[in-house]
Amino acid sequence: MPLTPDQQAEIDAARGESQQTLRATVPGMEAHLYKAHEVLDHGFVRVIDYMGDDSAITQAARVSYGKGTKAVQNDEGLIRYLMRHWHSTPFEMCEIKLHVKLPVFVARQWIRHRTANVNEYSARYSILDREFYIPQAEHLAAQSTVNNQGRGAVLQGEEAARVLDMLRGDSMRAYDHYEAMLSQDGQDGLARELARMNLPANVYTQWYWKVDLHNLFHFLRLRADSHAQYEIRVYADAICEVVKDWVPAAYAAFEDYRMGGAQFSARGMDALRKMLAGETVTQESSGMSKGEWREFEASLKG
Ligand SMILES: Cc1cc2nc3c(=O)[nH]c(=O)nc-3n(C[C@H](O)[C@H](O)[C@H](O)COP(=O)(O)OP(=O)(O)OC[C@H]3O[C@@H](n4cnc5c(N)ncnc54)[C@H](O)[C@@H]3O)c2cc1C
Repeated sequence: MPLTPDQQAEIDAARGESQQTLRATVPGMEAHLYKAHEVLDHGFVRVIDYMGDDSAITQAARVSYGKGTKAVQNDEGLIRYLMRHWHSTPFEMCEIKLHVKLPVFVARQWIRHRTANVNEYSARYSILDREFYIPQAEHLAAQSTVNNQGRGAVLQGEEAARVLDMLRGDSMRAYDHYEAMLSQDGQDGLARELARMNLPANVYTQWYWKVDLHNLFHFLRLRADSHAQYEIRVYADAICEVVKDWVPAAYAAFEDYRMGGAQFSARGMDALRKMLAGETVTQESSGMSKGEWREFEASLKG
């Protein structure tokens, strides 16, 4: 269960209060505020706070461009221009603070994004809950035979059942031992900071994560991508839904240029020009490696 009744009551109370402000607010984002968007079996993403909107981006950009027209389509055009030309600092004027509950092995990938501010739940101070990520059967895939970093076909029948049993059994046994080591019933009880080392990487942790829009887009570009591991991708997908409602023009530009766009090397551009001129280009004649050619063709097919 991602939220306990007490946590839900806390969220309801927070949403029940409102304050007047002169700051820019976004109705779509106000609707997300504090609400937990469920991810995986026990995880969630919820917006704790945000600063700025689409106008904050163009407002900042116009400091360097001088005062321009403020018509909506010009704002959208300017945002698209900034995205297209990697003029990134105006996007840093918007910030978002999220509360995320996620398995530790997902957190290890996530924390590699250094351009954010993080505060994690302390398992030195608090006792972690008995909550472990157990994949749904359709996500229990075999090791890919073509991609060392990927998954192949979904495990079937007895093997799938055996794997699920092992994951559940090991998680529960590890937590039983965690509790037994912490217990002060007839013993001193091991320190929380030490007992936690027994817990597997599918145990859930939580953190507050604050990031600006430029670096958030970088995170989403890498983690909402089809090559990202499913378990982090679903968090990135949930965040995309929020960002869409927060800064719709910036998100549309991001979708167009970054998520939907492609980058070609000089060799790729050369091959593309020749193909457009009606010439036949092969992997060998392009000068690209087999891997580069495969990715080049995949980009063209979409
Ligand atoms: C599909 C995929 C597979 C991956 N596989 C592996 C793997 O096998 N092993 C592994 O270790 N990692 C792996 N990673 C992690 C990856 O190498 C990056 O660490 C991660 O994506 C964070 O990217 P970043 O450094 O650009 O992000 P951020 O840390 O958010 O940084 C954003 C940008 O800020 C700049 N920056 C930030 N800090 C510094 C700094 N100290 N010095 C210079 N510039 C800085 C860089 O321009 C950087 O691109 C993988 C990531 C993906 C998406």
